[in-house]
Amino acid sequence: MKNIDYESVIGLEVHAQLMTRTKIFSGDSAHFSQNPNQHISLISLAHPGVLPKLNEAVLNLAVRMGVACGSTIAKVTTFDRKNYFYPDLPKGYQITQNQNPICTGGSVRIKNGKSVELDHVHLEEDAGKSIHDDQSEFSKIDFNRAGVPLIEIVTKPCMHTSEEAAQFLTEVRKLVRFLEICDGNMEEGSLRADANVSVRLKGDPVLGKKVEIKNMNSIRNVKATIDAEIKRQIDLINSGQ
Ligand code: ADP
Ligand code: MG
Repeated sequence: MKNIDYESVIGLEVHAQLMTRTKIFSGDSAHFSQNPNQHISLISLAHPGVLPKLNEAVLNLAVRMGVACGSTIAKVTTFDRKNYFYPDLPKGYQITQNQNPICTGGSVRIKNGKSVELDHVHLEEDAGKSIHDDQSEFSKIDFNRAGVPLIEIVTKPCMHTSEEAAQFLTEVRKLVRFLEICDGNMEEGSLRADANVSVRLKGDPVLGKKVEIKNMNSIRNVKATIDAEIKRQIDLINSGQ
C-alpha cells in the first residue's frame, strides 16, 4: 500500500497545571521551588491515616475550563485511585477521576475551522519528580510537585494530521492563559501532552491499534513525534507486521 491509502487518527491528552496557591488535597504551597522537598506536609508524603481534603479553588478552575469548552459540568463528581508503583508516587496510587469526571463533552475550535471534540476534562494530582543523575549512583526524589493540581483534557480520536494536533495545542494554550487557569508554559512542564496515534486504511470504520507517546513539552515536538509515529506504523504494516 502507498502512504496515501492510509488515514492517521490522533487523540490527545493534555495536562495543565492549575494556578492555585495550594495543592489539590492539602495546604502545601503549589508553587515551584528551586529547593527540593520544601512544600511537603504529611499529606504530600502520604503518611498513613492522613485525609485528603479537596481545594475548592481547583474545582472552580476546572469548571471554568468546562464552561469555556461548552462541556457538561457534573452535578456529582467523584475521585478514584489509580494504582501504580513508582518511587515518585508515595501513596502507591494517584487520586484522579475515572468514573465521574468534572466535565464531559464540549469542543475546542481550531484554526482550520474544525471543532475538536473533547471526551472529558478531569481533575487529578501530579506526582513527584525523580531525578536520575548520571554523576550519582542514587536516584533522587523531589516531592514539591506531588499533589499539585492538574486538569487533563482528553479529546476524542478525531484529529487526522500532526498539524491539527499542533493547532489544538496552540488553542488550548491560548485558552488556559486567557481563562487564567494555567500559565501554559510548556518548557517548565505546566502544560504537557500525550499523543495517541493509530493508522488505518482509508474508509475503514474500525480504529487501528494505538501507540501513546507521553509527556511531550513543546508543540514542535508533538508535531514531529506524531509524523514519525505515523510513518513508523505505516512502514510496519507495509512490511507485514
Ligand atoms: P486509555 O484510557 O487506555 O489511555 P482511551 O481510550 O481512554 O485510552 O483514550 C485515550 C486517548 O486515546 C483519547 O484521547 C482517545 O481519543 C485516544 N484514542 C483512543 N483510541 C485511539 C485510536 N485507535 N487511535 C488514536 N487515538 C485513540
Ligand atoms: Mg492514556
